[in-house]
Amino acid sequence: MTDSPKVLISETQLRTRVTELAQQISHGYASVDELFLIGILKGAFMFLADLTRALTIRHRVDFIALSSYGMKGARPGAVRLVLDLRESIRDRHVLVVEDIVDTGETLAYLLEMLAARHPASLKTCALVTKPSRRVKPVPLEYVGFEIPDAWVVGYGLDYKERYRTLPYIGTLDGMP
Ligand code: 5GP
Repeated sequence: MTDSPKVLISETQLRTRVTELAQQISHGYASVDELFLIGILKGAFMFLADLTRALTIRHRVDFIALSSYGMKGARPGAVRLVLDLRESIRDRHVLVVEDIVDTGETLAYLLEMLAARHPASLKTCALVTKPSRRVKPVPLEYVGFEIPDAWVVGYGLDYKERYRTLPYIGTLDGMP
């Protein structure tokens, strides 16, 4: 495996698309008092930071951390909550911000958990999606990029905790 990931989505492409997504979201929630963004740690931290700075509507941010046992060969579909929100989302307009949707198991679990807390609305935004890998159908209202089945790193995404802070999204040689 080489050390430098091959560029799949460049820094410029990311910047352009994240700005577009922020415009779409700002437009979509224009009539809402305040948008409640939930970032999924750790992967979404960089995307969320850039996305929120480009929003033109009032919003607040909170975080959830999940650990997925389904990653790379382990038991698929098992997701565990390791950090919960600090605030209630009851009657709030919630947008879940995910780094990447692969099988959909993580987001499906999360949406079920959040829906039970009675938000006013509940939608999703994913920077990257791999539609060919989907096992659980999940609604995605805002999507940055559709990619083929490959393990990607950078811009928040890791491989064994490496590459998270790369400014672009890339693929690793030797990975599927
Ligand atoms: P899902 O539950 O949709 O199968 O997987 C979602 C989670 O798996 C993501 O939030 C992310 O943590 C991890 N994941 C899935 N595909 C990739 C990938 O290509 N690269 C990285 N770094 N993480 C991934």
